[in-house]
Amino acid sequence: MSADVTTKKMPVLFVGHGNPMITMSDNSYTRGWAELAKTLPQPKAILAISAHWYVPETRVTVIHPLPTIHDFYGFPPELFQVEYPVPGNPELAEHAADLLLPDRVDLDGAWGIDHGSWSVLRHMYPQARVPVIQLGINYNLEPGDHYRLGTKLRELRDNGVLILGSGNIVHNLAGFNWRKPGETPPAWATDFENWNRRVLTSGKAGELVDFQSTGTMAKMSVPTPDHYLPLIYAAAQADANDEVSFPVEGFDGGTMSMLAVLWTQRNAE
Ligand code: ZN
Repeated sequence: MSADVTTKKMPVLFVGHGNPMITMSDNSYTRGWAELAKTLPQPKAILAISAHWYVPETRVTVIHPLPTIHDFYGFPPELFQVEYPVPGNPELAEHAADLLLPDRVDLDGAWGIDHGSWSVLRHMYPQARVPVIQLGINYNLEPGDHYRLGTKLRELRDNGVLILGSGNIVHNLAGFNWRKPGETPPAWATDFENWNRRVLTSGKAGELVDFQSTGTMAKMSVPTPDHYLPLIYAAAQADANDEVSFPVEGFDGGTMSMLAVLWTQRNAE
């Protein structure tokens, strides 16, 4: 992939994906994602970091096309029939693995695209034509390691690759109200989301790695790190010329932040 002086840096996106049924929903979140995709430059490929590929080492998918993975239980049969037959891009995957050296990355031919990615991408790119690679999150690493790995991928933005983190900034299933999407979020949830907004707009995204220092609100909002870490990979792409916005927002069921974060360059070259 050669650099091109006319190529602009792609935006970077983090989305709150919520529960898998959202892929069959039509609501303010799904419409927000669809509208957002229309405003973005057409990506040549997508590198997705999904909360749902949380594994013992860093991995990248070298498979083409990507099988649709139905990685959930207890949902209606029609959800298991959803397919998102998207092309892969093994060459880009190997390039991403090279960028991460000397950190070791497994080239993975077994996984595919999981619902953390397809539940959102079906709304953003329903034609399934943009090739996707997924980066698996190594659960043995610390938040600072994930940020450091993320920074090594920065050049991909120069080559038309959309880096997409998919998780939820607040993700507490124990308190989630499945019957009431409009449930009022508790203070710890809004406080933690607001802390993230402040850090993200401060231009010091690296401070996200200290999220646990916020105490109880982090413990409640991030009971396990899987849904939070995709935000750190996305935030690690930012440079001083990025403007941060929140194109989709809200809480689902009280304890699921649906906040999306978009980084776009202030002065396109
Ligand atoms: Zn999820």
